[in-house]
Amino acid sequence: MTIKMVDTLIPEYMKEFSCIGSACEDTCCSGWRVDIDEVTYKKYKRVDNLEMKAALEKNVIRNRSNPTSSNVAKMKMRHLKCSFLDNEGLCSIQLKLGEDYLSNTCTVYPRRINKVNGMLERSLTVSCPEATRLVLLKPDGIKFEQNQEVAPSRNLTSVTIDTPEKVSHWKDFFNEYRYVTISILQNRKHSLEDRLLILGMLYNELEEYLQDNKIEQIPSLLGRYLDCVEDETFIGEFNNIPNRLEIKLRLCRELVVLRLTEGITSARFLECSRDMISGLKIEANLSEDEINKNYEYSFGKFYSPFIKNHEYMLENYLVNYVFKNCFPIDCDSPFESYARMVVLYSLIKLHLIGMANHYEGLSSDHVIKLIQSLSKTFEHNGQVFEKLMNLLKENKFITLTYMSILIKN
Ligand code: SF4
Repeated sequence: MTIKMVDTLIPEYMKEFSCIGSACEDTCCSGWRVDIDEVTYKKYKRVDNLEMKAALEKNVIRNRSNPTSSNVAKMKMRHLKCSFLDNEGLCSIQLKLGEDYLSNTCTVYPRRINKVNGMLERSLTVSCPEATRLVLLKPDGIKFEQNQEVAPSRNLTSVTIDTPEKVSHWKDFFNEYRYVTISILQNRKHSLEDRLLILGMLYNELEEYLQDNKIEQIPSLLGRYLDCVEDETFIGEFNNIPNRLEIKLRLCRELVVLRLTEGITSARFLECSRDMISGLKIEANLSEDEINKNYEYSFGKFYSPFIKNHEYMLENYLVNYVFKNCFPIDCDSPFESYARMVVLYSLIKLHLIGMANHYEGLSSDHVIKLIQSLSKTFEHNGQVFEKLMNLLKENKFITLTYMSILIKN
């Protein structure tokens, strides 16, 4: 029998991951919906183990509204956790029936698999605490390696991309965007904020190229930016971005409202959010001026000194985001894709500044807890994040000026 091999591209951290099971401070299914795909659902119908058969009949519910082959049913949740999680926090389906009986969702999580021009790309989502540690705690940055592995027996691919040889659409330059974006994000000649601002200029200019139908000129645009980050072109370019803290605080207040109205269930995110609110004293009826003062005090006294030595954690979050999400072709507009990443970055920074004031300092554990729970709440809950993005769109805030203010302040 010939073994089918497949080319892979993976961040090096992938080799270090294994689930820490009952030692995990959050479990995968806590506060989530666990979908069951069609093949697994049929397997559950044929289970012989009488105890498990009864449990599956009771706790696997058919999805009656617009089911697809990947979500024909879902798990019943008990106290916001999957009904099959035992008292030690372990999955009883895996323990009693074996790994083959896990649904596609549970088999793949917290991995993400994309297929780009036939190559499998694996990465980890930072909504898992152990994955977050592996992704963020790499002071030298995330490195990638190409390899080969046995082709998987199940198709667990999230996104498949095939770029044609003859380019006709801006998305056909996917590999080039990603190479340039990650190169800029990892170029430590510039501060991380400046790297994000350079990307903003690039994707804004790309948007203008698309409006002028200059698709064939996109490679030279990307090349020009790559050259400019290497020379002095951008040095001092961003010193005059206005200090508009009130815009940041408006985002913060919207978040507080969202937190109250959208039924956010991640206990770890709610703790971070509560610490941020307490640190900035947002709910203490303080005037905007006083909140600004708290923000600036925490920024200067706690956040900046910590981030100066740990900027790589935020860089690694962004690089992983770009790789995992197939940035920037995950949206119909490249600038919108950029704006989504900036809003997430800005939410992280805002929370860390508030948390730093609350704890009178920051540690890597604070950053890990925040990024993991924020990713679980916003990146994996389309609805809450879409509400926030729609709000920004309605207020015409998806612009380079507004994004620059969010990054810089
Ligand atoms: S969240 Fe990650 S470490 Fe925790 S149980 Fe799930 S896969 Fe394991």
